[in-house]
Amino acid sequence: MAPDCLFCKIIAGTIPANRVYEDEFCIGFPDINPQAPTHLLIVPKEHLASLAKADPEHTPLVGHLMAAATEIARSQKLSNGYRIVVNTGEDGGQTVHHLHLHLLGGRPMLWPPG
Ligand code: AMP
Ligand code: ZN
Repeated sequence: MAPDCLFCKIIAGTIPANRVYEDEFCIGFPDINPQAPTHLLIVPKEHLASLAKADPEHTPLVGHLMAAATEIARSQKLSNGYRIVVNTGEDGGQTVHHLHLHLLGGRPMLWPPG
């Protein structure tokens, strides 16, 4: 738990979020500013500032987040496909410095991304 971290507060329950998914290691909830018909965030319960801060010991956790995202995509019926995004650092457009996956679906995604 990092004291001034928004996602740590959501995990602690001091800021509300609709947990559409939860397991021992992560939670999933809707992004407050959705960029697609389905836009969920998958967030580890452990505070880790970004993917760039992940050590080899975090490899199972990162794999678990991907597995959770695919399970959530199935439960959200995103059978036509989806996109998983991990904004990392300043050039990556990361604004909340607690690792998270964006799960976006329900419309065709563009490439290249902005
Ligand atoms: P990023 O820019 O990749 O760091 O993503 C952070 C995301 O958190 C943005 O898409 C925000 O819309 C989202 N966000 C910020 N505050 C909240 C909140 N209270 N509940 C849900 N999502 C949030
Ligand atoms: Zn945090």
